[in-house]
Amino acid sequence: MRFCIICGKPTDELFNNMCKTCYINNTELAEVPDRVIITLCPECFSYMFRGRWIRPEDPNDLYHVVHEATLRNLSTKIRYKAKVIKSMDLEFKRPYKITPYKRGKFSAVLTVEGVAHPKVGYFKKVYGFNIEVQWRLCPTCFKVKAQVEEAIVQVRASGRKLDEGELLRIRNLVENLLYKVYEEEGRSSLVKVEMDRHSGGLDFYFASKRIARYIASNIQKEFLASVKESYSVIGGEMTKERKKITISVRLPPFKVGSIVLYKGNPILIKDIRDGRIYAMDLGTYKLMKLGFKEAREIKECEYKRERAMVLSILDNEVQVMKLSNYEVMEIPLRRRPLWIKEGEGIDIITVDGKHYIIKGILGSE
Ligand SMILES: [Zn+2]
Ligand SMILES: [Zn+2]
Repeated sequence: MRFCIICGKPTDELFNNMCKTCYINNTELAEVPDRVIITLCPECFSYMFRGRWIRPEDPNDLYHVVHEATLRNLSTKIRYKAKVIKSMDLEFKRPYKITPYKRGKFSAVLTVEGVAHPKVGYFKKVYGFNIEVQWRLCPTCFKVKAQVEEAIVQVRASGRKLDEGELLRIRNLVENLLYKVYEEEGRSSLVKVEMDRHSGGLDFYFASKRIARYIASNIQKEFLASVKESYSVIGGEMTKERKKITISVRLPPFKVGSIVLYKGNPILIKDIRDGRIYAMDLGTYKLMKLGFKEAREIKECEYKRERAMVLSILDNEVQVMKLSNYEVMEIPLRRRPLWIKEGEGIDIITVDGKHYIIKGILGSE
């Protein structure tokens, strides 16, 4: 029989000359610093860890952000004494108040569970310390706040102006994409949007090149646009030379309602969406779906569009009268769709001396 050197209890089991209770009371599992300073971005709630900005697990919950930032920063400052750490539990002591842009200080306790001696097994120790919260804008939020633009996405159409419908769709697409970015990253980097009066296009200014490229590539996919990137060097209040990029996104020269040639045949563009062109062959009235590769075979063509009325229908021929000069003409058809009826208003499309009939709904000239 031996005795514990602390409490004098007689026992057979001694650890460092102490009974189990005294051993636990006098053994540390870790050495925890008195205070931890954490740095957060007041706009997006990213936090600093080892000199880098980290996006938190849940950027919408400030309590969790501070919790995560504290644990991570603390974990590198703790000196571990246990052989094995099983868990670390961090709890803030009330009252604590975390307000963006306001320095804060409150106390917390860290409960460490671990093994210091294999025969003693797991036990817990509680360590108190202070958390100091300080705020600093992360580089991206700083640029947005300071209106520093890193990238411009210029959306134009080649050889024509963007129409109202296209402008609206582009704005909606960008808005949806930025909303997604915001959901994922807790910040959006759009600085401003400007309408370019001269070209009728849109300029999106971003504080992040990455987001700008993401937006540009999505517009490209949706509208089968082409994308070109160029650099310009912008002066340095910083020591490093900074580059600004301009991403030129060009929508094709044709749009919904245009008549173009595909493999030499005139087609009517019915829709452009999800990176596909939905069109109709004017000779056969067949609907077609063209992808990015096929779209490169589309050629612009000159054509005339005139309002007319169907007078009579023969087997392979339709007799129509132009509304502008009451000229009557016969147009041969390879296939007659059901909507071509006597008395129906239609449009005559003339390409390269050949006439085609389409539904007369797409605007009159
Ligand atoms: Zn004892
Ligand atoms: Zn930020």
